[in-house]
Amino acid sequence: MLDATWFSEAQEPSGSAFSLKIKRKLHEEQSEFQFLEIYETEQFGNLMVIDGCTMVSTRDNFFYHEMMSHPVLYTHPNPKRVWIIGGGDCGTLREVLKHPNVEQAVQIDIDERVTRLAEIYFPELCESNQDPRADLKFIDGIKWVKDAEPGSVDIIIVDSTDPVGPAEGLFCADFYRDCFRALSENGIVVQQSESALLHMKILKEMRAEMQAGGFGSLQTIFFPQCIYPSGWWSATMAGKGDLAKFREADAAAKPFETVYYNSDIHQASLACPEFFKKALA
Ligand code: SAM
Repeated sequence: MLDATWFSEAQEPSGSAFSLKIKRKLHEEQSEFQFLEIYETEQFGNLMVIDGCTMVSTRDNFFYHEMMSHPVLYTHPNPKRVWIIGGGDCGTLREVLKHPNVEQAVQIDIDERVTRLAEIYFPELCESNQDPRADLKFIDGIKWVKDAEPGSVDIIIVDSTDPVGPAEGLFCADFYRDCFRALSENGIVVQQSESALLHMKILKEMRAEMQAGGFGSLQTIFFPQCIYPSGWWSATMAGKGDLAKFREADAAAKPFETVYYNSDIHQASLACPEFFKKALA
């Protein structure tokens, strides 16, 4: 039995839980949208929790942030304009801005408090917030995409919380239809798509909604994410063009440092497990 020196996220439907030994709670608040907590852990640095779900830890966020950005940026032929829906901790924004060809990256998170806390407790993730190409907005991403000019963006990265509360509408055909309209030729939307082991139902529904939204080409990628349920996470790309190939030579010659991502990792993340193929058949 774990005592109060552990933070645990219990996943009732899967009968599993993930725990981190904590030194102390650094902060908690009820924002207008969600309950936010920050812990200092023994081994994983700081930990952000939203509505009881682990979001970001200092030690392992690189898996998620790198895999939410570099695969999609090296799949699009020439990405210049990028929107990040959610992503308030700013880690995805930092990765996107490592690409010199990106001219503008707009982060649209509904909850300004997430970013203000990230600036205090995860300053390394916010180090590109002052980049002249960065634009931080604090409004509902669903409305932002709905109101967008057709063809006004090359890549939309949906770095959201799980499909409950304010993020629920980010997993629906109506939202993907608006993304399709806002995207330019060869445009791609990529969205965190939960664990293929624990959340196959959500993943299948999400892919079906993306298709209903107009996208003919889908690609789910797989990568580790220790602090999320099952420790194994996914992201799904939906494209106006073909997603089968990526710019492998460019990825191999990437002009910036990463901790996890490289062209071999990109290739490996595309490999589809047997059970996943069967579930989609
Ligand atoms: N990496 C996390 C995960 O997969 O568990 C998610 C990162 S967290 C920064 C997700 C962000 O999505 C939160 O800051 C939350 O405020 C934001 N969010 C939720 N619904 C939103 C919406 N409708 N529009 C914009 N941002 C939203």
